Amino acid sequence: MGKIQMITPLVELDGDEMTRILWQAIKEKLILPFVDLKTEYYDLGLPNRDRTEDKVTVDSANAIKKYGVGVKCATITPNAQRVEEYNLKQMWKSPNGTIRALLDGTVFRAPIVVKGITPTVSTWKKPITIARHAYGDVYKNTEIKVSAGSLAELVVTGPDGSQTRQTIHEFDGGGVVMGMHNTDKSIASFARSCFNYALSVKQDLWFASKDTISKVYDHRFKDIFSEIYENEYKSAFEQAGIEYFYTLIDDAVARVMRSEGGFIWACKNYDGDVMSDMIATAFGSLAMMTSVLVSPDGKYEYEAAHGTVTRHYYRYLKGEPTSTNPVATIFAWSGALRKRAELDGLDSLAEFADRLEQATLETIESGIMTKDLILLSTLAEKRGVNTDEFLDAIAARLEDLM
Ligand code: NAP
Ligand code: MG
Repeated sequence: MGKIQMITPLVELDGDEMTRILWQAIKEKLILPFVDLKTEYYDLGLPNRDRTEDKVTVDSANAIKKYGVGVKCATITPNAQRVEEYNLKQMWKSPNGTIRALLDGTVFRAPIVVKGITPTVSTWKKPITIARHAYGDVYKNTEIKVSAGSLAELVVTGPDGSQTRQTIHEFDGGGVVMGMHNTDKSIASFARSCFNYALSVKQDLWFASKDTISKVYDHRFKDIFSEIYENEYKSAFEQAGIEYFYTLIDDAVARVMRSEGGFIWACKNYDGDVMSDMIATAFGSLAMMTSVLVSPDGKYEYEAAHGTVTRHYYRYLKGEPTSTNPVATIFAWSGALRKRAELDGLDSLAEFADRLEQATLETIESGIMTKDLILLSTLAEKRGVNTDEFLDAIAARLEDLM
């Protein structure tokens, strides 16, 4: 049988450290034997970002805009220690931040559910995907500590110079004040990314805020979501048989805990920060979380939620065998290939993506897994293997399934 053909290239963003090693091994063992892989390759490894003065990151984001689908390996976000370690020209910005800003995208994180690794919440049977708004609110705030006898006011100067003024508080004793903002444009982009993604995976979309207390600020989020839904997405949702559902954040939390999963939960910036850690932990492991960046005009970038697994990399450099979990990175590839297949109408490529995921999950369910999962798995018969053995076991199964 010949290899599966592609039409449009996938934008491939290589990365750093242990995940860069995994990247190569996944391609060699699981993809290239079956697919005549077409990619446009960008090396986002830190040495090349430094060499190109980070131009490669911007170029890769533009390529995703052009072709529509990218797959990204984890990358180092430099700090002072990395500047020294890699002798960098400067402390380059987070590639994920740069790409997210250029695509104006929202990040969706979903756990990979597998038999033997049971969520802490016993009712959860299907993954819960969290979408976090990544702009404004408390993350772009202004805050001041005030002393006794202070008057805090909120003043907004309009384009014509007119002022709106409201008293925040008259302080008898000391205290604190905070000013924060969001923009209609950013909220609308967030909403469109959420509606697009829900349609793309055919799952219900939940959105929640605290509009009963925050009658202007949070209410604005609720209104923008509702307007965009009614005007642009309602009929597509009805056709797909999915639902958009708004509720209070407290009610959402209660419903999430009683649910069986299988939906997307859109969160304001702070809620998403907190709730994504809760969901990830309750589903089992960061090594089993996927992440996809979706732009409001429907461009997709798939990756693993974890980082470059530095500690394992240093062991690998010493020649020690490592047992790094490649599952989230494999699912980044399968997710990207499936989306490419959908856009280009390639049934055999879509089927390959399904088989790749099936082979990976069946390998774990048969008791062969990386060592991080051994601690979590409730299977009676299980064996912790190193990364290469794990990938070989998946490859053998995939061969059978194809
Ligand atoms: P990390 O790479 O996610 O790893 C933290 C720890 O979690 C590891 O040491 C390991 O624990 C465990 N772990 C994570 N992924 C695993 C996997 N696939 N298999 C097995 N164990 C796994 O986070 P970090 O060490 O904080 O960050 C390392 C680098 O990654 C940093 O330079 C950071 O900037 C970057 N980063 C990149 C992204 C991204 O590109 N999306 C995201 C986060 C961080 P044990 O050592 O106990 O086995
Ligand atoms: Mg957090």
